[in-house]
Amino acid sequence: MSDKYPSMRALYADPLNVEGTTYGKRWKRHEWIQLVEAQATDNPKTEKVVLAIHGGGIEGGTSEVALAVAGLHPATFAQATDGRGFHDLWIFEGLLSSGNSDLHVTSTEYDDPIALEIVQNARRCISLHGFCDDTATANKKCQIGGLDKELKSILLDELTALEIPALIAVGTKLGGSDPFNICNRTKSGAGVQLELEKTFRESLFAPNCFTRELRKNNTNADFDKLVLGLRTALSRVN
Ligand SMILES: [Zn+2]
Repeated sequence: MSDKYPSMRALYADPLNVEGTTYGKRWKRHEWIQLVEAQATDNPKTEKVVLAIHGGGIEGGTSEVALAVAGLHPATFAQATDGRGFHDLWIFEGLLSSGNSDLHVTSTEYDDPIALEIVQNARRCISLHGFCDDTATANKKCQIGGLDKELKSILLDELTALEIPALIAVGTKLGGSDPFNICNRTKSGAGVQLELEKTFRESLFAPNCFTRELRKNNTNADFDKLVLGLRTALSRVN
């Protein structure tokens, strides 16, 4: 299925799309703090970003996972206490009651200026997506793509250790190998794209809670396990 809009700029230019009503943006960029004498401003700990560019009702569950991986509770924004840090965040979400796929702009044409600015200033990126089960190239819940080979392999280790079925994806779409894919537009020209199967995303929330209104307050232990794997992987790279 091809996208309704060729770019985010085209989406924003259509008067049908109203920020806060039909779509939303949420983002966070690290607060620069330089109180220590001679502290380096490019502290690598602050240069990681988590994306859900098809969040809200577009690819359900990715907004909630992105917030949690960045270190914030998806409903209360309470800060994580696991010592694995806080990450920059970009979420674009569909807020429509139906038809949110109209708000899907492909990763390689993702020209939102705030999102690009955040990613281009990051050293590491995990871009979360959801796919429908029948488009899977293999029967795995998590497909790890992108050009950041180091982070991909660490992420595969962490997910496998937690018994979350995952594989390294191949090809340009699930594989995220296009250099123009927003996940790869970091300082190093590489990032990770993590595609989560629909039934797997549904399994991260309490039964009958897979709606935008309910998900944020109804995450379960499997959600926490996935978030732990992602946060641990990010903590293992500079
Ligand atoms: Zn997507």
